[in-house]
Amino acid sequence: MRTAFITGITGQDGAYLAELLLSKGYRVIGMRPQRSTANLWRLNELNLTEQVELVEGDVTDLSSLVKLLDTYKPDEIYNLAAQSFVGTSWNQPILTCQITGIGALNLLEAVRMVHPESKYYQASSSEMFGKIQQPQQTEDTPFYPRSPYGVAKLFSHWMTVNYRESHGLFACSGILFNHESPLRGLQFVTRKVTDAVARIYYGLTDKVQLGNLDAQRDWGFARDYVEAMWLMLQQEQPDDYVIATGTTTSIRTLCELAFNHVNLDWTRYVEVDPKLYRPAEVEVLLGDPSKASRQLGWTPRTSVEQLISMMVESDLQRVRSEMKHVEGRSFL
Ligand code: NDP
Ligand code: GDP
Repeated sequence: MRTAFITGITGQDGAYLAELLLSKGYRVIGMRPQRSTANLWRLNELNLTEQVELVEGDVTDLSSLVKLLDTYKPDEIYNLAAQSFVGTSWNQPILTCQITGIGALNLLEAVRMVHPESKYYQASSSEMFGKIQQPQQTEDTPFYPRSPYGVAKLFSHWMTVNYRESHGLFACSGILFNHESPLRGLQFVTRKVTDAVARIYYGLTDKVQLGNLDAQRDWGFARDYVEAMWLMLQQEQPDDYVIATGTTTSIRTLCELAFNHVNLDWTRYVEVDPKLYRPAEVEVLLGDPSKASRQLGWTPRTSVEQLISMMVESDLQRVRSEMKHVEGRSFL
């Protein structure tokens, strides 16, 4: 039985990756930082909490990583841990760099020192392209990050390449474009919109405030994307890959798709709040996944229309069950 070690197991991708690896018969060790409240809602939604082995550790604490790798000697390591919200990275740039940047270096060092046979996956990001230097971004497009998050991810990307080239680690960097799902955090624009659609539909609120409606993203489905992570670690040679759909959609069109799903006119409910504009914006991202398709045999299976419909449906169901719960309590 192969052992996989996932940092960031409680996040969106951590949950879907755990599901995939368990279905393939892996023993899954999931590391999570000690917090005052356990954040297990995603693992609970996928019924995985009892199937993964949760262990305490933090990517900013090298000693915890050394101890865990020494104990479990994993065949595959997936570094998904991050302060992953771009907006927060301007308010907490140092913390972001410690977790998202130095955190990856700590883990690479731990692998090098304790168990260099492990295959390592680094969760890199299209935010590294930032102010895009080519209309469609590939593995060869020059980087130009626009946020502390993007800069931190670029550091961990190059560290991954460097540990592969200097120490011979089997280390891969997956340059993943935005990927969403019903398990996406509420602060990200897709889920913020689909949650608002559900609340507006059921009369719980009547407006949603957004920032730049003209920004465009290449949005895919997280469950499709975790397969690409796994495929990278099954190749003969370690390498870096862009994972994307090859289509881009504006925030305006996202709103249209999401509100149309419940037959509402988005222009009546969406307000622009200039406070939500970013200090430096990534205006448009569009990935070219040709290399992944050629070498990994990976292609995205979910269109943006299907993705947004799935997310609205799931939020409608969540809001309905919240309302039932509240009604139920009123009879107590
Ligand atoms: P999430 O924000 O949902 O998950 C991040 C995870 O990191 C959470 O489990 C969080 O734990 C954990 N974490 C935070 N700080 C630490 C720490 N100090 N030590 C250990 N774990 C920590 O992100 P996603 O699942 O969406 O993304 C996974 C990875 O992929 C991230 O690195 C992200 O930056 C990257 N990425 C994501 C993209 C996307 O569109 N989703 C696109 C490209 C890259 P807790 O829940 O307790 O806070
Ligand atoms: P990111 O690509 O990782 O920053 O993912 P987000 O979902 O946070 O943001 C995607 C784009 O949506 C960015 O260009 C934001 O400026 C834009 N956007 C517009 N309004 C909002 C909003 O209210 N919240 C967020 N998170 N993003 C918004």
